[in-house]
Amino acid sequence: MQKQSKSLFIWITIAFALVYVFVIAVLIYNYQDAKGSYYQDKYDEQHFQIESKVNSYAAFADYFFEKIVNDESVLYRYNQAVTGDSVTQDIIRQELYQYYSNDYTLMQTYSFRQFHFHLPDNTSFLRMDQPEIYGDDLSDFRYSVAYVNREQEYISGFEEGRTFSGYRYVFPMTYQDKHIGSVELSVSMTDILSDLNARYQDKDYMMIIERDVVDNKVFDDELDSYMLSFSTDYYIEKTAIANDNFNVLSSELFNQLLGNVSKEKLDLGNYQDKQVSIVYEQSRYDFIFVPLVNMNDEAVGYIITLETAEAFTELRIRYISYFIATTVFVGSNYVLFLFIDKARKKLREISQHDSLTGIYNRRYLDQFLEKEIARSKRSKMPFSLLMFDIDHFKEINDTYGHLKGDAVLENLVKIINNHIRQEDIVARFGGEEFVIILINTEGENALTKAKQLTKLVEKSNIADLTITISIGVTTFDDESTIDTLIHKADTALYYAKEHGRNKAIRYQKEMDDS
Ligand code: GH3
Ligand code: MG
Ligand code: MG
Repeated sequence: MQKQSKSLFIWITIAFALVYVFVIAVLIYNYQDAKGSYYQDKYDEQHFQIESKVNSYAAFADYFFEKIVNDESVLYRYNQAVTGDSVTQDIIRQELYQYYSNDYTLMQTYSFRQFHFHLPDNTSFLRMDQPEIYGDDLSDFRYSVAYVNREQEYISGFEEGRTFSGYRYVFPMTYQDKHIGSVELSVSMTDILSDLNARYQDKDYMMIIERDVVDNKVFDDELDSYMLSFSTDYYIEKTAIANDNFNVLSSELFNQLLGNVSKEKLDLGNYQDKQVSIVYEQSRYDFIFVPLVNMNDEAVGYIITLETAEAFTELRIRYISYFIATTVFVGSNYVLFLFIDKARKKLREISQHDSLTGIYNRRYLDQFLEKEIARSKRSKMPFSLLMFDIDHFKEINDTYGHLKGDAVLENLVKIINNHIRQEDIVARFGGEEFVIILINTEGENALTKAKQLTKLVEKSNIADLTITISIGVTTFDDESTIDTLIHKADTALYYAKEHGRNKAIRYQKEMDDS
């Protein structure tokens, strides 16, 4: 019974642990899921904001192209430049520059920085921002120009450049079904980010671009407009830092905090949407990274935003409170279970023990005997049962009072308990009668032990009195039952009482006959 309840205890403990682990696992799963979709929304939002900004510039560029370039008279003159000698080209270049000067001023107010004409062989014909520079071959570092002159179709997208990086919108020019070159309108990345900062006031936009990409393309004297700050592999545009329309934190702080982020952990080389959280002055912020992909479909950097992570913090707090609630709930139930189990054990203890002496009671003795009889039958290992009774105990009660009698019982039990083996037990059979079970002991040995005990008691000073006991001894045999064992021991005990007390007598069959 003891064993059974112990394994039950373990099973219930395991069940509690499993329930707890399961609920926590579900919580963690849900949290990860919620976190995943929280940041997915952030990535989607960022892609969308950039795209819609860039698309609105595309629409604008298209409008300018159709309105002022794709015009019969312009194309006619441009065609003459394409086919003409350098003197003719110089005249037409001058002419176009004059013709577009007002339009270019207007374009600039809409953030278009470059308005640039190219010849079909990819050489520059007219830069509205730098009319004195022309004739240079753009084939090697301007994918967009080479593409449009080759495919004779429109292209748009991000492109690094020698003076600045930005979104370019490059249109093919056609005169009388003949491809005569291309024209580009472009917006700098700095302006786009500045626009985004102005448009979305809950976040700040910044861009980083691979250092190698810039170093290979940018004029050396223009390298000045880039700086290393975030990482030795990436540049930041100085103009972006100079930008003062940051919303959440200042551009300097943005840059400084970004500098503290672990690049290894972010794995920047792997161009995917990613996120990193930082804590600054007790507030949590998120940097959201989306890859910056150029027209050539190569990722060359990231567009990064900074925003407060308040909503995410709320989400986290919610999950932390679920976690605490689960722990408290399961934990308190387990504690309750422990209390109940303890109470149950205590109750069992009480039900098995005698309240005065603390030794086993008769109920337990019966259970014990039942098991011991079965065990002995199986293993052929006998045991002996001793029943003892205090001699003239009534007189002690009568002379010294009941309390003294109680003290005698308590002390006597202690002495007996100290002189039997660990596996042997002593139980109170009733009143001042007790039973001792001597495990793995038979016949003469049991009797010898019983005799030793009578001598021991007689010699001991029990509650300042000299006490004697009489003992009846019997040993288990294959026919034994609880009743026969008790009967035999009791009979031998009676015999001992009859024959002078203070002695141990082994049961003989003849005793029953007399
Ligand atoms: P004998 O040698 O024949 O055993 O004589 P006895 O006086 O011991 O026998 P008897 O059975 O007449 O008396 C037993 C007494 O034990 C009677 C009862 O009051 C006393 N007794 C039984 N249980 C307790 C107990 O828990 N405490 C005390 N103080 N006395 C008890
Ligand atoms: Mg007695
Ligand atoms: Mg008695």
